[in-house]
Amino acid sequence: MASSTATKKSGNQYDCSKCPGYCCSYPLIEVGKRDIARLAKHFEITYAQAESRYTRFDRSEKVRSLKQQDDRHFGKICKLFDTRKRQCTVYEARPGVCRDYPDGKRCGYYEFLQFEREQQGDDKFIATTDNN
Ligand code: SF4
Ligand code: SF4
Repeated sequence: MASSTATKKSGNQYDCSKCPGYCCSYPLIEVGKRDIARLAKHFEITYAQAESRYTRFDRSEKVRSLKQQDDRHFGKICKLFDTRKRQCTVYEARPGVCRDYPDGKRCGYYEFLQFEREQQGDDKFIATTDNN
């Protein structure tokens, strides 16, 4: 998910380094205690500081999620995303849900992106989805 290093390895059919980071623009990216502890260690801050700086409690879903920041392409994106380089700033310390995505060798967002880029004849084109 959203790394410059997680490119087409192990036969993956997607290349995060060529993607603007669709998966990081989900409004709800659930995190648990281990995820927050990992972020705290990464930033050398306390658990409470990591929790308040990078996460929020979603009242409707009743889960803790990563906070977001404004993004020119998607409206909002994860607070831990570098909106200029289009990659995760905490890749080695990213939450478990980010590690698990996209759960297979293919990424639907990447296939959508490739299709749109071919249609536009522009390999830099950034298509948006209904979620954005
Ligand atoms: S949407 Fe897919 S290709 Fe894009 S950053 Fe996420 S996992 Fe990588
Ligand atoms: S922690 Fe990194 S990989 Fe996970 S949503 Fe945020 S920017 Fe994306």
